[in-house]
Amino acid sequence: MVVEVINTGTELLLGEILNTNFQYLSKALNEKGFDVLYQTTVGDNEQRLCSTIKIALSRADIVVTTGGLGPTRGDITKEIVAAVLERPLELHQPTLDKITRFFTNRGIKMPENNVKQAMIPQGAFVLQNDAGTAPGLVLEAEGKIVVMLPGPPNEMKHVCMEKMLPFLERHFEQQGIIHSKVLRLRGIGESSVAEKLDDIIMSQTNPTIAIYARQGEIIIRITAKGSNFENAEALIAEMETKVKARLKSNIYGADNDSLAVKLGGKLAGTGSTIAFAESCTGGLASSMLTDVPGSSGYLLGSVVSYSNMAKVKVLGVSEESLKDYGAVSEQVACEMAAGVRNLFDTTYGIGITGIAGPGGGSEEKPVGLVYMAIASEKETVCQKYKFAGSRTENKLRSVLAAFSLALDKFKEEI
Ligand code: ATP
Ligand code: MG
Repeated sequence: MVVEVINTGTELLLGEILNTNFQYLSKALNEKGFDVLYQTTVGDNEQRLCSTIKIALSRADIVVTTGGLGPTRGDITKEIVAAVLERPLELHQPTLDKITRFFTNRGIKMPENNVKQAMIPQGAFVLQNDAGTAPGLVLEAEGKIVVMLPGPPNEMKHVCMEKMLPFLERHFEQQGIIHSKVLRLRGIGESSVAEKLDDIIMSQTNPTIAIYARQGEIIIRITAKGSNFENAEALIAEMETKVKARLKSNIYGADNDSLAVKLGGKLAGTGSTIAFAESCTGGLASSMLTDVPGSSGYLLGSVVSYSNMAKVKVLGVSEESLKDYGAVSEQVACEMAAGVRNLFDTTYGIGITGIAGPGGGSEEKPVGLVYMAIASEKETVCQKYKFAGSRTENKLRSVLAAFSLALDKFKEEI
């Protein structure tokens, strides 16, 4: 069953408010097996709303609108839908009684224009709104369904959950549910993942599989449609096994996992400790690891060594290395890692030094160049990265690469 969601409101187009109604609705509808395949945002404009509704009816079985059911002249959704489907508006007495009670209960005289909210298109089914005055409405025409929901998020959610979904489920009987699982990968690029899964992607039907590049990681979303939750889960598990057979060494977690949580788990699980010597990341690695509950058990301390002086005095980096190779170099990254490990007496020490940008780059050492070293009892190894984002993005990617580098240790040593 194809669904199009139309969110109305000029505020949305101006970017003054975020379209949270769409996020909520699409999730709720998809979970019940209704495929949301289109979404349109349109301002409070008669002509444009009219053509948007016509287009939606030409390509979807169910059209769900939000907003524009209020009492003012600017609220036009109901009037336009009624006009498109050629239904005159009629007074719906039970709704008028309810709105009247809503105002008398609050000791206010009902403004005359609220009567507008009790006018409904002929043949409409009323979805009672216990959170506000404008009811939701359903109109059926030529095998298609138009649902109109109020705009205020609390009212929209209430009518969606309590009235619209039960109505749609009754109407279409259970369509099945959609369930998805996310696999998280590190140490591999989007195109390599796509290449390794090419034949699976080409022949996908149910479940479907999609690859996305996120900051510092790749995610694979497996989405299955089943008659019930267990059925969908079984389909996902089957696909997951196929994907894991090809990308096992790159998959570090699933769903809401993060590199920080995974690293924290490894450190805690092995009784290991860690310390960071951060230059270009300015303490972000330590900050992100301390977001993980229980991190005090393994993060013993860190140094934000933003100057050469701090690198020398606090971490014991040699003046010669700084002079000969520069602060952003493999040698200095290694000395920072070993120095901070020594300082806090930890299992691992990580040194991060780079050029976050936008200034400070040169031909030899461009913006985005980052050296990252990890020191353990056995050895100190360094990795060179070249990131291409903004200052903030480069900092974040450096941190995620540092976490990834530390996770590699667990593969090697355990
Ligand atoms: P009202 O009776 O309040 O006029 P309405 O059904 O006419 O309700 P709108 O006027 O379109 O709805 O929106 C009311 C308020 O709800 C907006 O000012 C905005 O704060 C919020 N809102 C509307 N649409 C959305 C949306 N898509 N996402 C998030 N918030 C929204
Ligand atoms: Mg309004």
